[in-house]
Amino acid sequence: MSLDYQSLLTAFTLSGCGLAAAFLVSWLVSRKEGFLMAWTIGVALMAAGVLIYGGYVRTMSPIVGAAGYTVLLTGLAFVFGAGREFRTRVLPWRSMAIMAIASSAAMAVPMLAGYNGIAIIGLNVAAAAILLATAWDYWLGRAEARLAIMLLTGLYVLTGLSFVPCAVLLLLDGRWALPGIPSNWAEDLNIVVCLTTLAGIGALSLALNQARLARGHKRDAETDPLTGLLNRRALLDRIATEIEGPAALIIFDIDHFKRINDIHGHLAGDEVLRAFGEILLSCRSQGLAARLGGEEFALLLPGDSLVAAAIAAENVRGRLVKRRFAASGAAFGCTLSAGVAHAKDSVIDFDALLHEADKGLYAAKRSGRDRVVVASDDEAFLAQMRSSSEVPRGPVDLVRLKTG
Ligand code: GH3
Ligand code: MG
Ligand code: MG
Repeated sequence: MSLDYQSLLTAFTLSGCGLAAAFLVSWLVSRKEGFLMAWTIGVALMAAGVLIYGGYVRTMSPIVGAAGYTVLLTGLAFVFGAGREFRTRVLPWRSMAIMAIASSAAMAVPMLAGYNGIAIIGLNVAAAAILLATAWDYWLGRAEARLAIMLLTGLYVLTGLSFVPCAVLLLLDGRWALPGIPSNWAEDLNIVVCLTTLAGIGALSLALNQARLARGHKRDAETDPLTGLLNRRALLDRIATEIEGPAALIIFDIDHFKRINDIHGHLAGDEVLRAFGEILLSCRSQGLAARLGGEEFALLLPGDSLVAAAIAAENVRGRLVKRRFAASGAAFGCTLSAGVAHAKDSVIDFDALLHEADKGLYAAKRSGRDRVVVASDDEAFLAQMRSSSEVPRGPVDLVRLKTG
């Protein structure tokens, strides 16, 4: 089949314009995804570059040729920048400028001097290098979405490699000043590959962005914005889908928190909540930490015994008590009460477990606050806990055991 080169160039321009419009709309919807704008500019420049290049094919004017290729190479530098920004969230202005200026100069100088053969070799080598560098960048970020990013990398490699035979055939030809643009199988293959991969690269890039946005929304819906901990609903979801018993649950409640707000102000209260969130986050490797609401928090410890959970609760209590806060020049501290409970079954009944831990918490509040209480109606177990040297005792009555 003989290929109509001009029609393929026009198809590339139209397809590039369509993609640029799709990226622009996506950027308008989520403007903090800056790579979408870099992609919009990159594809629009590539489409414009190919349009101008169409003029060069007809006129063979060196100025038109140099202009078309410069716009095309600048577009490719933006596409590289978009890929880097997608991975690192920073647009690499300097690398992009170096790529665009160096590759354009390497092409434009011979083009304007009348050696369009050398210029076109330069264009092909530069395009291959920029596209392979873009592929490498995506490859480095493949952990985010393995299949999609590996596919994208493959498409960039394929596109980059399709420029190589164009340069090789020109080198073999050995004519540095050509009467017309090169016309051979490599040029036809190159434009067909570019046309095909452009749509695939565009669709995959948009899909990756959508997947990233969806992950961000899910994270926001699961996270308490003040402390960064899971919220109550997320904790329940995780317990239902990921966690198997036996497990221990600790419920923490900051003592007289309302007073902290009243005396030191709401912002100081927020600071206490944030600091407590940090303490719980640092214990997260042991389990799931969540803010249940207000100044009430939970730490679920899969596989832990009641004794281990009581020790963990005391450790957290001790760390908060040691923290000092400052508000309007005055330093203050705060205390914490906690209730601990344990579920033996492999399927965790969270309501029942929470109810048990709450009993411990209310017992802790009733008996003076600033303590950890394990609530259990198993008298033999309680006796064992009382005599256990593992359970820490401090200035506060650490584990005041209550029945029922
Ligand atoms: P207790 O020792 O019995 O637990 O008393 P408490 O004052 O800690 O408990 P109470 O339930 O009476 O008051 C909780 C307070 O927590 C009331 C509410 O205004 C405050 N609070 C809830 N959410 C936030 C928040 O996000 N930031 C701040 N600063 N305060 C909050
Ligand atoms: Mg409280
Ligand atoms: Mg409370």
